[in-house]
Amino acid sequence: MEIPYEFLGRIFVYVLLITFLGILAALSMGFYSFKKRKFIFPSFVLFMLYLFYSPSKWVCSVFSIRGSLVDEILVEVRNAVMLDDFLKREGPRAIFLPQCMRNASCRARCDPVLGYECRTCGLCDIGTICEAAGKYGFKVFVIPGGSFVKKIFKTYKPASCIGVACYNELAEAMEEMSFIPVQGVCLLKDGCFNTTVDVAEVISKMEMCDV
Ligand code: SF4
Repeated sequence: MEIPYEFLGRIFVYVLLITFLGILAALSMGFYSFKKRKFIFPSFVLFMLYLFYSPSKWVCSVFSIRGSLVDEILVEVRNAVMLDDFLKREGPRAIFLPQCMRNASCRARCDPVLGYECRTCGLCDIGTICEAAGKYGFKVFVIPGGSFVKKIFKTYKPASCIGVACYNELAEAMEEMSFIPVQGVCLLKDGCFNTTVDVAEVISKMEMCDV
């Protein structure tokens, strides 16, 4: 039997074109949602941008748009989709902070399962967040890496959580944790040292659960 190369080629081009248009549509809807705070077809946006994560970043680069926009859309759309569940969910609540937020003179001990145990010495924002977390019933975990999240899920078993990280790590982590209601807050200043977050935003997410 003769292989219909021309036909297969056409199908391939159509699939590429449909995928490209789908990514463009997801980016446009995501950007609109992100800017206007009106979330349209959020499941479609999340599905397309996670499935075609690298091609979406490539499409952004073609139009000279910063690639981090894809991560920003993913975080904000997921925050909106999960907000109701996050507020209503009962049970242990956790907040994951990256260890790079610690002050260079931090003397916190690192537990092999739970991460750094903050002494609330006041040298960095982690102490402030820990104090607020105690008030709103959240347990703070200052983690040196993603492997700690798995260990904490096994031992503490949070029913809902807040994650703080840079946008690309946050988008990935929120997808991995999406089996529970999650809210993400991006670092204001990223890198691997002396990073900062909008503390008021983190506290307001905890505050919203205090009803
Ligand atoms: S507040 Fe906590 S995390 Fe920050 S420097 Fe002090 S002990 Fe370390």
